[in-house]
Amino acid sequence: MQHILEAIQAEASSDEIAALEIPESYRAAFVRRDEQEMFEGRESTEKDPRESIHIGEVPTPELAPDEVYLAVMASSINFNTVWTSIFEPLPTFGFLDRLGRESSWGARHALDHHVIGSDASGVVLKAGSAVRNWKPGDRVAVHCNYVDDQDPAAHEDSMLASNQRIWGFESNFGGLADLSIVKANQLMPKPDHLTWEESAVNALCASTSYRMLVGDNAARMKQGDNVLVWGASGGLGGYACQLVLNGGGTPVGIVSSSDKVDLLHQLGVEHVIDRREERYEFWADEHTQDEREWRRLGKQVRNFIGDDPDIVFEHPGRSTMGASVFITKRGGKIVTCAATTGYMIEYDNRHLWMRLKQIVSSHFANYAEAWQMNQLISKGRIQPILSKTFDLAGTGEAAFQVHHNQHEGKLGVLCLAPESGLGITNPEKREAIGESKITLFQRHAASLENTPGG
Ligand code: NAP
Repeated sequence: MQHILEAIQAEASSDEIAALEIPESYRAAFVRRDEQEMFEGRESTEKDPRESIHIGEVPTPELAPDEVYLAVMASSINFNTVWTSIFEPLPTFGFLDRLGRESSWGARHALDHHVIGSDASGVVLKAGSAVRNWKPGDRVAVHCNYVDDQDPAAHEDSMLASNQRIWGFESNFGGLADLSIVKANQLMPKPDHLTWEESAVNALCASTSYRMLVGDNAARMKQGDNVLVWGASGGLGGYACQLVLNGGGTPVGIVSSSDKVDLLHQLGVEHVIDRREERYEFWADEHTQDEREWRRLGKQVRNFIGDDPDIVFEHPGRSTMGASVFITKRGGKIVTCAATTGYMIEYDNRHLWMRLKQIVSSHFANYAEAWQMNQLISKGRIQPILSKTFDLAGTGEAAFQVHHNQHEGKLGVLCLAPESGLGITNPEKREAIGESKITLFQRHAASLENTPGG
C-alpha cells in the first residue's frame, strides 16, 4: 500500500490514482470464525477484544460494479466493534453467511475472517463500472448503511429494506483496514477542514443521533424542546447534545464522572447529572425496579429545567428504560436505538399510556439523513468528538477501552495515515470555526492523561 499512500500524499491526479495497482492483499483488523467460541464460560466484561482482534494481511476481494476500492486513511471504534469482538449477542459470522447466500457478489463476504469497522475516511482508488458520482482521487467519509435498492421498501426509507445491513458488522471488508470496498451509495464528501481521523469518527454515531432526534423518522425534535440524553459524553450522546443545542433545544446530560460533567459544560451543556455521584440505582435487585429512584431523577431534571423532558434519548436499555418512560413529559417521546445493558426491557406501562407517551424506535440512518448530518459537520455546525487516536495495531486496546466505558466521545484509528493531524485541505475554514471547538474532546482527554492518576 506504500505506493498508494505516496500518491495520496503527493496529491496525485485522478488519472494517476486510477492507474495505481490495487494490491492482492492488505492489512486489516479482523476476528476469526474458528475463535468464535473462545470466550465461552466467561462473563461479558471478561471477554477481551485484545485477544480476539487480530491485525494481519487478508486477500483483496473482487470489486462489484456498484462499489469502489477505498484507501482507508482512518477509521473508528464503534460499540459494534465491541459486539463483534466479544461475539455477542451473536457471532457476526452468521450475518456474513446470510449475506453470502444472497447473491454471487454477496458470497465474497462469507469468509473465515471478518474484517471489522463501520466508519472510515479515505480516498477512492477505483470505481466499479456502475458508479456514477465518484471517481478515483475523491476524498470521502463513509457511512455504514449497506443497502441495495431492489426492495420496494428501500425507496421509502432505505432503513426499511429487508436486506439493510451495517457495513463492517453485518458485512465483511470493514473500515478498520488499509483498504476497503464500499458501495457508492455509502460515500459522502470528506469535511475539508478536518483531519483524516476527525473525519472518520462521525458517520455512524452522528447519523444515528441525527435520525433519532432531527430526521423525519423518529423523535422529530422541535426548537425549544427539552431533551434528556443518557451517556451524554459518549459516541451517540456527544452528537445528540450538539444537535439539541444546534436545534434550539435544551439538553440535560447524564454521565458518570465529574470529568465528563466538566467536558459537557465546555461543550455548552448547562445541565448535567453525574449518575455515579448521585448514586442512582434504578434496580433494587435483579427483578425489581425502585420507583422512588425514578421520581428522584424526575425531580432533579425538573429542578434544572422547570419541566419534564419532551424527549428522552435512550440507548443504555434495561438499566434505564423504566426511568426514561417515567420521567418523559406527558405526550413526549422516548427514542431508543440500543440496549447496551440488556435488551429485555421493563417499564410501567401505566406511565406510558395514561400520559400518552410514545416509545419510538430508530436504527442508524438512511443515505439522505447521513448526508444531511455530514453537511452539518462540513459547515462546522457540529464538531467531531474524537478524543483519542490509536494505530491500527491498537484496535484491540481501543475496543477494550470502549467495552469498559473508559473513553469519552469517539476513539479514532489511523489506518493508512502515517500520523495524526493530516488531511486538512481547508485551513481557512478550520480557523474560522475555531480549533478549540473542533478539538475540545481531544484536549480534554489529553488534559486527563496529564493529570496525576489520570
Ligand atoms: P459509548 O460511546 O460507549 O457511550 C455509551 C454511554 O452510555 C457511555 O458513555 C455511558 O455514559 C452510558 N452508559 C453505559 N452504561 C450505562 C448505564 N448502566 N446507565 C446509564 N448510562 C450508561 O457507546 P455509543 O457509541 O454511544 O453506543 C451506545 C449504544 O448504542 C451501544 O449499545 C451501541 O451498540 C448502540 N448503537 C446503536 C446504533 C444503531 O444504529 N442502532 C448506532 C450507534 C450505537 P456514562 O457512563 O457517562 O453515563
